[in-house]
Amino acid sequence: MYDLAVIGAGWAGFNAALRAKELGLAVCLIESRQIGGTCLNHGCIPTKALITCAKIFSLAKRSADFGVELDNLRLNWRLIQERKNKVIRHLAQGMHSRMSGINFINSVAQITGPGEITVDGQVIRTKFILIATGSSPAELPELKFDQERIISSDQALTLGQIPQSLLVVGGGVIGCEFAGLFATLGSRVTIIEKMPGLLPAEDKEVSRKIESIFKKKGIQVYTGADLSTLDLKPYDKILVCTGRTPNSQGLAAQDLGLVLEGHKIIVDAYLKTSVGNIYAAGDCTAKSMLAHYAAYQGVVAVENMFSGNKQAADYSVVPVCIFTDPQIASVGVKENAASVYPGQAKVYRFDFRANALAQIADETEGWIKIITAGDNGPVIGASIIGPQATELISVLSTAINAGFTAVQFRAMIFAHPTLAEGIQEAFKHSGGI
Ligand code: FAD
Repeated sequence: MYDLAVIGAGWAGFNAALRAKELGLAVCLIESRQIGGTCLNHGCIPTKALITCAKIFSLAKRSADFGVELDNLRLNWRLIQERKNKVIRHLAQGMHSRMSGINFINSVAQITGPGEITVDGQVIRTKFILIATGSSPAELPELKFDQERIISSDQALTLGQIPQSLLVVGGGVIGCEFAGLFATLGSRVTIIEKMPGLLPAEDKEVSRKIESIFKKKGIQVYTGADLSTLDLKPYDKILVCTGRTPNSQGLAAQDLGLVLEGHKIIVDAYLKTSVGNIYAAGDCTAKSMLAHYAAYQGVVAVENMFSGNKQAADYSVVPVCIFTDPQIASVGVKENAASVYPGQAKVYRFDFRANALAQIADETEGWIKIITAGDNGPVIGASIIGPQATELISVLSTAINAGFTAVQFRAMIFAHPTLAEGIQEAFKHSGGI
């Protein structure tokens, strides 16, 4: 009899199982495919491994600007793929090495009762179950995946060669990352988005900026566009990035009473499902399909199962990082949403052109925008487009969590020359706008 059985060894399930182990519980982790789930095998890690190679290629192409002259620069897609696979292998080994004390079962799980899971015909009994089954790429009815020409992000990561021409359907985070990646690697890229701008969930100014940067790179961008008006014939590959579907089909016996909305598993504020001792975390709850949020939910769910002091999952300070070039990151309230904040929101801003390190690296495009709740109020949101935005955003997430104000930021000492100085500069010199 286990205290906890976790279904799915993605970032939600893995972190939940580790937390259960820390609490001294008897725990098993059941995974039908590979440890690490989408994030490690088909998501965050392989995309960023490829994007890193593309970044090196684009830097090498302009290395002469830095006085470094290179001859015969060329891409070796096979080696790029091998390197990506090596990164995945190393991280998977690292995850396996942390599994001692957790019973890892590599098979498909089905919930056959409130405290009962069936795996390979064997029944596992447990006090609690955590569903952490993740999500899969969603198809469009008019563009069904054929794994060859009409592909999902899964296939885009393992293509045999760099496509000559690529249509990316969907200008959200995943679509924009792939569009930037393949354009840098030399593909002719078109991106089509039905909403009025790329990255519809981001700050509107950031969305306009990345669209203009993409266009300068030669990416054709159609926004507010209807896919049915586009001729699909000229494209070697069509990559559909229009969302993901929670994995819940066939997971639980019909009579169990697990409430779904579509495929999404419904949870309360404490991540409990409609069945008393079954919780859910990560993409399968479709709250915020991000790896770090999945991990957070997994840990909160375990703590809520076994602690008398239950805590509601907090969705207010979840950083979003987008690995385009330049990078984009945001957290909390966006400027376009700030007007709905009950206080009087104030916007501070810093342009990377005024930052020494950005000049040194010749990466001056972009800005930091920070929103506070009035003149003396705490930071409530930030949007960054520019170099290392995905690292810088953690300073502002921390600031929101700690309730830091502009006055407190002005009194701190930031190291020079760093990109992070731009955060302090925003408070020092822009005086708010
Ligand atoms: P998953 O990682 O999907 O894991 C669920 C696991 O459950 C899977 O391994 C699956 O095989 C297993 N499973 C399912 N059903 C069963 C069953 N019945 N029995 C046993 N096992 C089962 N997020 C970020 O934060 N940053 C990024 O940069 C980022 N980049 C991304 C890039 C791409 C291309 C994609 C597709 C996603 C990206 N994401 C990123 C999102 C991130 O990958 C997901 O939010 C995260 O993986 C969700 O974790 P999870 O544990 O909920 O689910």
